[in-house]
Amino acid sequence: MDKILIIEDERKIARFLELELTYEGYKVEIAYDGREGLNKADDESISMILLDVMLPELNGMEVLRRIRKKSEVPIIMLTAKDDVFDKVAGLDLGANDYMTKPFAIEELLARIRASIKRTPVKSEPSNVLRMGKLVMNSSMHTILYDDNKIELTKKEFDLLKYLIQNKNIVLTRERILSKIWDYDYFGGANTVDVHIRYLRKKIDEKFSIKLIQTIRGIGYVIRDE
Ligand code: CA
Repeated sequence: MDKILIIEDERKIARFLELELTYEGYKVEIAYDGREGLNKADDESISMILLDVMLPELNGMEVLRRIRKKSEVPIIMLTAKDDVFDKVAGLDLGANDYMTKPFAIEELLARIRASIKRTPVKSEPSNVLRMGKLVMNSSMHTILYDDNKIELTKKEFDLLKYLIQNKNIVLTRERILSKIWDYDYFGGANTVDVHIRYLRKKIDEKFSIKLIQTIRGIGYVIRDE
């Protein structure tokens, strides 16, 4: 049974999440401030963390930064609409995703399932990545969709591979840029958008699917569900 840590100072929200998650079959742990949350995050049996941004004692960004120093546990940030919260900074600090309150519980549950599931299962050689009907073989440098070969340039291939390897994690354009292009590359984040467009033309449009999602003003994500 997966255990989820909720770090949230608004007791009504924490209680609501606890009820919903327990109903879904998760074990739940709650912390009502940032420091308590950080302590409870040390528990290695925790499968994922829901982390509010505005917290007493230690704010959510600081909690995130400290957890990431020692753990890769999936983290979804919870933000209020009028929080002064830099989503890009949160994602760059290593949050997997974020949701703005009030949110639909079904959507949060889907994101939770996706973020827990992404713990890699080694059933295939690691040079083969699958995403639905898409099969990517990085040693052969080939991509098939439903057995149709897709021709990609080296950069397009690298970009798609990075997105799939990090599926269900919202990647900022800056993070993609620094990973796929050199740090001293001067093209700017616009380069990422251009290559995403190429990929969509060759995959999404060709096969009438929605593989790559845009997170407006932030970046991109490929999701399981
Ligand atoms: Ca709060």
